[in-house]
Amino acid sequence: MDDSAYGTRDKRGNWTPDKPYEYAPVFVWPPRPRAFLKFLLWMPGYFLPWNLLYALIVLAMWVWLTPPLEVMQTLAPGWILFLLARNAALSAIWYGGFHFWLYIRRAQQKAFKYNGKWPEEGNADAFLFKSQLADNLFWTFVFGIPIWTAFEVLGLWLYANGMIPWLDPREHPVWFVVIWMLIPLYREFHFYLIHRLIHWPPLYRTVHKVHHNSINPTPWSGLAMHPVEQLLYFSGVILYWVIPAHPIHTVYHLAHCMFASAPGHVGFDKVAVGDEGLIDMPGYDHYLHHKYFECNYSDGVVPYDKWFGTFHDGSPESEKRMMERFRRKKARRSAAAGGASS
Ligand SMILES: [Zn+2]
Ligand SMILES: [Zn+2]
Repeated sequence: MDDSAYGTRDKRGNWTPDKPYEYAPVFVWPPRPRAFLKFLLWMPGYFLPWNLLYALIVLAMWVWLTPPLEVMQTLAPGWILFLLARNAALSAIWYGGFHFWLYIRRAQQKAFKYNGKWPEEGNADAFLFKSQLADNLFWTFVFGIPIWTAFEVLGLWLYANGMIPWLDPREHPVWFVVIWMLIPLYREFHFYLIHRLIHWPPLYRTVHKVHHNSINPTPWSGLAMHPVEQLLYFSGVILYWVIPAHPIHTVYHLAHCMFASAPGHVGFDKVAVGDEGLIDMPGYDHYLHHKYFECNYSDGVVPYDKWFGTFHDGSPESEKRMMERFRRKKARRSAAAGGASS
């Protein structure tokens, strides 16, 4: 497959798209109404394909794979283990599907792959069991999925017992839909905040480093985090314990945390389907975060990194700006250290 029409490969085999990463045409001046409408209604956009796909899967999860509320009134092992097994199976299918296709079957070899190496080539010492895949699976299944399930169990149990405000979609259909549609934006805001927090050096060294060991991320890197980071990552659902929402919003929010992290860490710019089709993957900005660490803390529609001066679009100009920022930071640090020692 020929990816040279879309980007260039350097001597080390790293592939860079010709088109720098761009935020969605939402927070732009002057406004671009046509581009904005296209972003809302077409793909790649806010709903299509990913958020609509996740919404449909979650509807099915709610109808067929979530126990009745009467059952969830009592904290009993049966339904709790059922939700744990359901979440583990979904993760295995979702992450495993991407991983199988791109990294085991290598269906498109390294076409559109940002990093020129396969993840198991080098850097093994950074990982548990000296393997990126085994390490990522460990953090995902031992901590990530149980923590996701714990938030879900707690939320659903609170709803089942009428202990938190409940929004009835028959009485407030508009609010029901609006909250659902805003969840990805709320997740972005929440993720930006916790992500800045865990890049604070003491937390970075003890917590966030586990996630950043995957410099060459794969779908399984999405939830490969220290349990403290996972607690923070899924904690956004606590909002629904205060504002009126429906239990399905909790299920969607939590499942979205898992689903969205796979295309976000897939490591490929596009995935080929059939003979001609190419699906855009939404993770180039986050790939650059894994590569350079101190840029692109946010991920999605709202240009937080542009607003706070940490945006990297993959272009040489961005690279230069970032290096200049690092240089100034280093100079400030050594000046502060010099001041402290004198
Ligand atoms: Zn990441
Ligand atoms: Zn980070």
